[in-house]
Amino acid sequence: MTKFCSECGSAEIVQRVPEGDQHLRAVCDNCGFIHYVNPKIVAGCLLTWNGKILLAKRAIEPRKGYWTLPAGFMELQESTAEAAARECWEEALARPIDIELMGVTSLPHIGQVYMMYHGTLADGEYGVGEESSDVELFAPEDIPWKQLSFPVVHFTLKRYISGEMSVYDEVIDRQTDWLTKGA
Ligand SMILES: [Zn+2]
Repeated sequence: MTKFCSECGSAEIVQRVPEGDQHLRAVCDNCGFIHYVNPKIVAGCLLTWNGKILLAKRAIEPRKGYWTLPAGFMELQESTAEAAARECWEEALARPIDIELMGVTSLPHIGQVYMMYHGTLADGEYGVGEESSDVELFAPEDIPWKQLSFPVVHFTLKRYISGEMSVYDEVIDRQTDWLTKGA
């Protein structure tokens, strides 16, 4: 939580329910500014090439050393699809073609919403991006299920491999036993 008001620089920040509101907010007692905290959007992409799925091994915390789908927080001034494509490049030096929305996963307990796309890996070319220590194409039967980074990655891979391609609206609301579920 913020210590200083981003509007006036005052340290007079208090937790209070503003008039007409139902939630506790960080309110500046000096200038009255309300510091809203809202969920963040993460955009990512499942890229395939000849039936194999591109995964990147995380070189940064959290979950360093675990495999993930290219995904990350959206930047200002970009669309979700642009964010997904950018993450493919940053993490896996991969350019996506024909990406389409797979679905939306809400993670209310950590204030995140994942917008996951799928698409084709252009020319089958990829490399190890700055935030990764390794990048590889995996056949569905070779997915390292026990070494995946996050439940949402597990869910997205399961969904894709199931062949069910209708757009989904999923909620992952707590840490489940996903790590031990395996394939
Ligand atoms: Zn202020």
